[in-house]
Amino acid sequence: MIKFTLIENSLDSIEQGLKFLQTAESEECISAYKHSLLCLFQGAELVLKEALVLIDPITIFDKNSLFKHCSSPLAPTMEELYKCKSIDIRGITQELKKHYSDIFTRANIKVLEKLAIERNKVQHFAIEISPKELNDKLLELYLLVIKPAFKIIQSKSYDVGVNGISNDEITERISKFEESFLTIKIGDGFYIGMCPKCTEYHHFIIYDGESYPTYTYCTSCDYELKDIDPCDYQICPECSWPSLIYDKNSEAGVCLVNKCYYGKEGGFVEMEPCSTCTGYEIEGSCSDCSPEEE
Ligand SMILES: [Zn+2]
Ligand SMILES: [Zn+2]
Ligand SMILES: [Zn+2]
Repeated sequence: MIKFTLIENSLDSIEQGLKFLQTAESEECISAYKHSLLCLFQGAELVLKEALVLIDPITIFDKNSLFKHCSSPLAPTMEELYKCKSIDIRGITQELKKHYSDIFTRANIKVLEKLAIERNKVQHFAIEISPKELNDKLLELYLLVIKPAFKIIQSKSYDVGVNGISNDEITERISKFEESFLTIKIGDGFYIGMCPKCTEYHHFIIYDGESYPTYTYCTSCDYELKDIDPCDYQICPECSWPSLIYDKNSEAGVCLVNKCYYGKEGGFVEMEPCSTCTGYEIEGSCSDCSPEEE
């Protein structure tokens, strides 16, 4: 069996890259930006290779090289693979277009290609890009290349014995990356609560300059609340804040206060559109129809 440690190596590089980016931003340090670019790009390269290995390990090796070094190129041995050349960014983008064209669209691929040029510049030449521009590009790399690759990884099963890392550990690290990314991008304009769907504490609730959360998403599962309208907030029966959103897909309410019982451990609130008025029945009663019950 062929074992790879791509996933762990990629997570380590991404962690390093995000740390450098935080330092770069807070200390306006050019060399930290350079290191951030090198680490994040390497992390992206490795996590994309991991996504391709999940299809077939040989996808990440140069075809000529496989034919040259392996007695049966479609089923190489580990020893043979050590001698083979792996594909470069060009090869990676080609394989992504072939196998994951629904996830990696032209826009995503373009971000990777542009950053590849910047990475080469940093390696061989003096860097001329402004810190602000580089910061934006690195955040874009995270958002449009690394995060989609994480989604692919998280949909597969990992085992400590076989892969050296479990799904839980991967998910935990990804959640930490998301926290670093958001801190760099929007400062303290977010907080984390319990996801009502998967019950992990990976439900990112985003304010970003508004006085109420405008959208949320979970990094462990696909749960999200998009484009929340401030008019949609109802009073939560537990914490009494106007923080309760009716989630049509789940046919239940979600309180977005992370200190509230529901946001912390309760999960979904029993809630449905009221059968007689335009309001909601929350935990069995509608305050518009029967206010005296309050
Ligand atoms: Zn979740
Ligand atoms: Zn509440
Ligand atoms: Zn009613």
